Amino acid sequence: MTLPKMNRVLLKLSGEVLMGDQQFGIDPAFVLELAKEVKAAKDTGLEICLVIGGGNIFRGMAGAAQGMDRAQADYMGMLATVMNALAMQSALEQLGVQTRVQSAVQMDQVCEPVIRRRAERHLEKGRIVIFAAGVGAPYFTTDSGAALRAAEMNCDALLKGTSVDGIYDSDPKKNPDATRYETVSYGKVLADDLKVMDASAVALCRDNDIPIVVFSIREKGNVAKVLSGNGVQTVVTDHTA
Ligand code: UDP
Repeated sequence: MTLPKMNRVLLKLSGEVLMGDQQFGIDPAFVLELAKEVKAAKDTGLEICLVIGGGNIFRGMAGAAQGMDRAQADYMGMLATVMNALAMQSALEQLGVQTRVQSAVQMDQVCEPVIRRRAERHLEKGRIVIFAAGVGAPYFTTDSGAALRAAEMNCDALLKGTSVDGIYDSDPKKNPDATRYETVSYGKVLADDLKVMDASAVALCRDNDIPIVVFSIREKGNVAKVLSGNGVQTVVTDHTA
């Protein structure tokens, strides 16, 4: 489907894509490659808000499964997203792209707090704003953070870059006959529990009519392709044309 004309997008990257080929953590060389993708998207004239997950370092659910207090583990996960945001900021600035990090958990020495009007100003000045620490509360994920920031920053779409090139009717890693949706409604994603984002994130996008574009970030040049309408992706929307 052709995507609506976009001026401002929120790009959400899973933390795991920052690992590159490693099993854990941050691969700076790979982060630089990702930053090039982000820069290419920005060079098309878009205003970009960025949200990066923390799953390459720590996920609250995993900590809780091993006996940790869930809320405590989630705070650790939020801190992981700040580390990733700083890594991406450093890579983008190596490429000459101006950025600001705004964290939902305040840490004055490291980055700005989330202030919507200030973020607006950064975007107007051509800076990329990286929103860290999700919504700033445990029991959420960075998908919800991405949906929230996409809504409050009036983004035209939420682009979700992951390891898979869209949403499938079953897990493509387990089922060779799995087929990818071109478009799918928010309702179907929720009703069929198509594991693309948490339900709260999908519902927030539905309520604010923000299309979710799911694509693979691992393929070089894909962000620009997706933005130009020539990429492989799934669009979650209630508009079929
Ligand atoms: N997290 C949280 N609240 C938020 C955002 C994140 O508690 O608003 C924690 C949660 O533990 C989560 C972790 O941070 O597991 C890392 O984020 P996420 O799992 O969304 O990262 P991704 O899967 O995108 O790499």
